[in-house]
Amino acid sequence: MKTELKKELSKISDFENPRISLEQYRTPPALAADLLHTAYMQGDIEGQKVADLGAGTGMLSIGAALLGAEVTAVEKEDDAVRLLHENLEKMNIDIEVIQQDIEDFELDVDTVLMNPPFSHHSDIGLKFWEKALEHSNAVYGISPRGMRERIKDFAGKSSHEVLAVEEFSISLPPSYGFHTEESHETEIDLIITRRKE
Ligand code: SAH
Repeated sequence: MKTELKKELSKISDFENPRISLEQYRTPPALAADLLHTAYMQGDIEGQKVADLGAGTGMLSIGAALLGAEVTAVEKEDDAVRLLHENLEKMNIDIEVIQQDIEDFELDVDTVLMNPPFSHHSDIGLKFWEKALEHSNAVYGISPRGMRERIKDFAGKSSHEVLAVEEFSISLPPSYGFHTEESHETEIDLIITRRKE
């Protein structure tokens, strides 16, 4: 199932002119397939209401829809929303797209999937976590390794508990932060939380 999914996800177009300030980068299909498979096996995808915060060109939204979720994609930037619609049409996927800033997100869902922006200069990534923890029963979030303790602390003080942290290594375009070397391998985490009983 994971191989099939990864193959489908490889069809999703990338950002054309990524906005560095918004940390626009497409989750690599292999990582997206891992995240989606993990969430699926936990019962958090099929037949569930799923929100993808900062949906970009649709990697996590489209994957969740392919696995039987009822998906809402939330994205604020015009070009990303346009590419997202193009990808949905190309792949014949029906989901709801809301163009809004994450600050305004108020929808209650079962599951949040996200690969939010993490900037050295702002706490925008934690704002995504705040919204995700408030409005869902389970969160699957990708983040740079350096943010792990802050996110765990943050989630620990919420109505969720941290269930697992899985480690991955991905390659990013050189323009993105969190690494200094020529090689662009970046250590990231998949952090999974669930609402406490
Ligand atoms: N989820 C996609 C894209 C991740 S990149 C994928 O996995 O491939 C992060 C996305 O968050 C970008 O598309 C960026 O435009 C969006 N974003 C950044 N700040 C935002 C905000 N304040 N509100 C909504 N979306 C935001």
